[in-house]
Amino acid sequence: MPADESNGLTAKGGRTDRAAALPALRAAADRIIPADAWPAGWEGGVAEYLTVDPISADRDLAWAWPALVSLAARLDDEARRILGTAPSSDDPAARVSAGFADLDPAAQDAILAAVAAGSGARSFDALRRVCWEGYYASSDGRHPAGLDMVGFRGVPEGVTPIEPEPLKTIAPAAVQAHYDAVIVGSGPGGGVAAQVLTAAGKHVLLVERAPYLRNDQIRGDHLHGKRNAVYWPTVGPGPGHPRVAQLPEGDRVLDGIDDASIYGLNADAVGGGTRIWQGMAWRFMPEDFSMRTLYGNPHGASLADWPVSYEEMEPYYTKAEWQLGVAGEEGGLTRRMPRSAGYPMPAMGTEPSRELLGAAAERLGWGWGPIPLAINSVPWDGRAACVRCAQCIGNTCPVNAKNGSQSTFIPRAIATGLCDLLPDAEVIEVRDGAGSAGVTIMADASTSPVELTVSADVVVVSAGAVETARLLLASGLGNDHVGRYLHDHRTVTVLGESAHPVKPYIGPGHSVATLDHVHADTIPWGGGVIVDLMGLLPLTSAGEPAPGVPGWGAGHKEWMRNGRANLFGVFAMGQEIPLPTSRVTLAAVKDRWGRPGAALRKDVHWTSEQVEDGMAVQGARWLEAAGITNIRRHGGPATASAAGEHSCGTARMGTSPENSATDPFGRVWGTSRVVACDSSLHPTNGSVNPTLTIVANAFRVAENLVAEWPR
Ligand SMILES: Cc1cc2nc3c(=O)[nH]c(=O)nc-3n(C[C@H](O)[C@H](O)[C@H](O)COP(=O)(O)OP(=O)(O)OC[C@H]3O[C@@H](n4cnc5c(N)ncnc54)[C@H](O)[C@@H]3O)c2cc1C
Repeated sequence: MPADESNGLTAKGGRTDRAAALPALRAAADRIIPADAWPAGWEGGVAEYLTVDPISADRDLAWAWPALVSLAARLDDEARRILGTAPSSDDPAARVSAGFADLDPAAQDAILAAVAAGSGARSFDALRRVCWEGYYASSDGRHPAGLDMVGFRGVPEGVTPIEPEPLKTIAPAAVQAHYDAVIVGSGPGGGVAAQVLTAAGKHVLLVERAPYLRNDQIRGDHLHGKRNAVYWPTVGPGPGHPRVAQLPEGDRVLDGIDDASIYGLNADAVGGGTRIWQGMAWRFMPEDFSMRTLYGNPHGASLADWPVSYEEMEPYYTKAEWQLGVAGEEGGLTRRMPRSAGYPMPAMGTEPSRELLGAAAERLGWGWGPIPLAINSVPWDGRAACVRCAQCIGNTCPVNAKNGSQSTFIPRAIATGLCDLLPDAEVIEVRDGAGSAGVTIMADASTSPVELTVSADVVVVSAGAVETARLLLASGLGNDHVGRYLHDHRTVTVLGESAHPVKPYIGPGHSVATLDHVHADTIPWGGGVIVDLMGLLPLTSAGEPAPGVPGWGAGHKEWMRNGRANLFGVFAMGQEIPLPTSRVTLAAVKDRWGRPGAALRKDVHWTSEQVEDGMAVQGARWLEAAGITNIRRHGGPATASAAGEHSCGTARMGTSPENSATDPFGRVWGTSRVVACDSSLHPTNGSVNPTLTIVANAFRVAENLVAEWPR
């Protein structure tokens, strides 16, 4: 009887089984990626990935081995039926006779096709995925053949990566008993708070739970980096940080080593998400601050106006652009947001996709322009200009041209001598009091944890929308609004094929945008921005062959080499309408310190689906006008991932405790000395990426804190 998947998935996968499976797996990998001018799959990277590299072979691929062993047994059995030799035995030692590897390629292909189309589909898919990962993804220092075959270079030729001078940190023993302020989290919210408070002469302790990794430790890993991160994200919290995703099909416990998107990870790093972001640095439009006034409040939703207008935010946007460092151009993308100053740097240079979509936008009569990016288009702030590498998003910059909390706000704060940066340290409790606030910190968290108790005039919580809410809830602080209204953005991808390659491996990624469908007649509920598709990593392309391209074999490999470069599309991001039921609560599962993990629930309002559908229609129009063929919406409606890179709203600002978690300046209602200062404050999240608004608002919140320092 052929081995079936049910017994293989559960019972097999030990070392002896693996060794016995290798001949068939090798032969199958070489049919999934056959040899031509470039090596076959096994030699080209799959062997090393599957059998040599201990990180992949023993840790990451633990999920795959049972399926692979089962598949190999099945392939051998099928082969022996053809060859007329004895059927397989459950005893691996008996499976040494002729098998799948002894068939000619045509017979192997026939068996694989039958298995893939039948009851072995899941096992076959597991092998195919492992082959793509082994052949087309760099990780843990591997550089497989597929990368050279498709012309992918992590760093452009002639560029020698530099490692920036590490930020000065302090050891747990040097932490003082009292600070003017303790800031929890070193992302853009926390970084701005540190810069503003130290500039005002306040002594701050900036606590970051992620260990301090070098830039080269957060670059070029296509399996653990924050774009394809399916295994142990480098910028994840690691094991011991469980969350519960409350999904329609039931609760699912996830640890910090799981698929980053399901886990709801932004990025844990010194610098938070901005250490590895793409840097799209938009201002919200004036309408984004008055969503409830403009659109009412459709049943079940909880739209709210910001307690601050665009006019009040404008000086802070200008400050944010100049303090962070944004390369942009005034014109088609800025005309609806009045500005008191230009951009500090010219826009990033053009590329084929901008030319193509720009011309198409002209034909459609749409406004368009180069995306404002917090990346140096020219040398700026003592750092180099972007070298246009092809893996910007999700990675650190090879020449430190990316502007984020780690390269701007935090160094300035440390330069004052008043900022003590404590990485690898997790705040586990915040205390509020009439005369003083304080925190409990687990320092040296990943090595030999030590508990510290620190008091402060003020605690600024900037841990990101999920963790800020979790920390406040676990500390018993704030009202019933804390944790509610968890939302992000709705996104949609529309793909097609261009006549010529328009997205070669030139960074930094997204290049061109239109804002004509933001607060316009074409898409309801505020709509969203549409941008060109970022350059896809080779591994991502492998899973997205054009219609008609075989899913594996010589045809797929040929497409990867020659057709993949014509894969093109647009990505759109728009309003997600908040609901009170979408929220962060405390789960029954406990983290490494015995604290409750975050439970994440996301309900998707019908209005959000309309935004998504509208963006898909307009995205397809843009592609059609650009002469793109085979236009298709990718993956259907986006799933209801509970949290994400743009999570916000869980400590929404407002005018009273009746309608919000904090006052208009982030002071948590019901506390005397606790201030939130990050994405959690956003009542709504605009029709564009949020971070420039997080930064601008953080300047506003932190400057107010200095002006109204609690006594
Ligand atoms: C790959 C990627 C690309 C992105 N691209 C863009 C883009 O182009 N444009 C854009 O606008 N946005 C982008 N973003 C989103 C952007 O990074 C976030 O909007 C932003 O970082 C949120 O800032 P924050 O200050 O709210 O929180 P975060 O940046 O998440 O910072 C919070 C920090 O707090 C730390 N922390 C959490 N809990 C604790 C604790 N208890 N104790 C101590 N420390 C703690 C975390 O480790 C983290 O470092 C991107 C994000 C990613 C991951």
